[in-house]
Amino acid sequence: MAINSGKEYIESLRKLKPNVYAFGEKVENVVDYPLFQPHINAAAMTYELANDPEYADIMTATSNISGEKINRFTHIHHSIEDLVNKVRMMRLLGQKTGTCFQRCVGLDGLNAVYITTYDMDQKYGTDYHEKFKKYLKYVQDNDLMLAGAMSDPKGDRSLRPHQQPDPDVYVHLVEKKDEGIVIRGAKAHITGTINSHEILIMPTRTMGEEDKDYAVCVAIPVNTEGVTLIFGRQTNDTRRLDGEIDCGNAKYGIVGGETLIVLDNVFIPWDRVFMCGEYDFSGQLVETFAGFHRSNYGGCKVGLADVVTGAAFWTAENNGVEKAPYIRDLLAEMVSMAETCWSCSLACSYEGSKTKSGAYTINPLLANVVKLNITRFTYEWMRLAQDIAGGLIITLPSEKDMVNPEVGKYIDKYFGGREGTPTRDRIHMVRLIENMAVGAGLPEALHGAGSPQAQKMMIGRRSNLKDKKDIAETIVGIKPDKHFEKITGKTEDEYFEKFRKCG
Ligand code: SF4
Repeated sequence: MAINSGKEYIESLRKLKPNVYAFGEKVENVVDYPLFQPHINAAAMTYELANDPEYADIMTATSNISGEKINRFTHIHHSIEDLVNKVRMMRLLGQKTGTCFQRCVGLDGLNAVYITTYDMDQKYGTDYHEKFKKYLKYVQDNDLMLAGAMSDPKGDRSLRPHQQPDPDVYVHLVEKKDEGIVIRGAKAHITGTINSHEILIMPTRTMGEEDKDYAVCVAIPVNTEGVTLIFGRQTNDTRRLDGEIDCGNAKYGIVGGETLIVLDNVFIPWDRVFMCGEYDFSGQLVETFAGFHRSNYGGCKVGLADVVTGAAFWTAENNGVEKAPYIRDLLAEMVSMAETCWSCSLACSYEGSKTKSGAYTINPLLANVVKLNITRFTYEWMRLAQDIAGGLIITLPSEKDMVNPEVGKYIDKYFGGREGTPTRDRIHMVRLIENMAVGAGLPEALHGAGSPQAQKMMIGRRSNLKDKKDIAETIVGIKPDKHFEKITGKTEDEYFEKFRKCG
């Protein structure tokens, strides 16, 4: 693989120099900016593990294009096993980082565009799929990280894109030229952008004919002229500047590091344009992408649940209450909810299917159920972790007080737990729980990959209520039950003769 370690990945970012702003300043050096480093380390884990022979089966795959061994984060799923390995990879990385490792959005975008461009070409005779395969080979050969950019700012939600007073609240086509196209607008809340090599821009919703200029899918290098990235704030983000402990997870941070991507008349050559006006495929692209990303949440978030459950158990042990029945009960609840989500993620992978393009996709109904469960259960298992950790989760003094020569000794004395465990470790573990159970990870579990209503809409569309009604009608005898007749040797009218006569 082109990038042989997490460290090499970090070095590969140095030369890109994207146009980034954070905390009111232009960030000249993304890699060494302290507030970004945990996010970059988390993404680096996707490279580090792919180069570790212990994880080769899960973290790497064979390219259907080049036949070479590639990082699974650039792979197009070509079997059920691929789909299952993808969610195994997500859980593993969640366990290793305790946070969002960001790279899955680009992976899901690659798979969704692969499937959709194939179908577009079948209908319109375009050459998007072949162009996309060439781009994909470039991504795979160079082991690039992509930010998947789907969410537009959306302005007035009651208006369609073409009705907005400001047309730029949805990314749109400005001009078609001989050599390429020009687009303008913005993408909001986009994970991992500052430390990606490329941005894959996709439409955000189903478009009608009047919105065809908004049906645009392109790929651009992160440092393309006209692109500005404005980094979002997160809970306790400046604690990263205060040392190691207060942050909770100073190594890998909290959630993914999101940006507003501003696209100010950005030029894209035709070989990087994968949809331009084919509005009737925008919905397919969005749904395919959303299905993939929602299926992931039973992997990555369950990996996080493993971490917080471990932290809660450690804290209970250190408090001397690990055998108390109520603690065992809470831990069992946490594990049960997490494994329910994991089962759902595995199920939507095992129930996946082959698309016309040859790539495999997940079962979309189950993928939306995965994500809907995550929006609820994450809050619940994090609540139980708070319960086990106790009130000091929000009352502990700072790390600076711990090392203060006047008061540090009191913190060491009065915040200690079971004898033999350093107070520093106890406080660090509680801070980890605070980081995961109180911070930005909660709304991320709610809104990442779409809000609960977005999942309910998809579930509603695919829930097949008519069939369920038929089943119920058959059970009560409104519809004929041929199996019942075979079992009893009588029609239902004959079988229930005595009763039906009275009716
Ligand atoms: Fe990947 Fe999970 Fe982060 Fe989405 S939330 S990018 S699936 S780690």
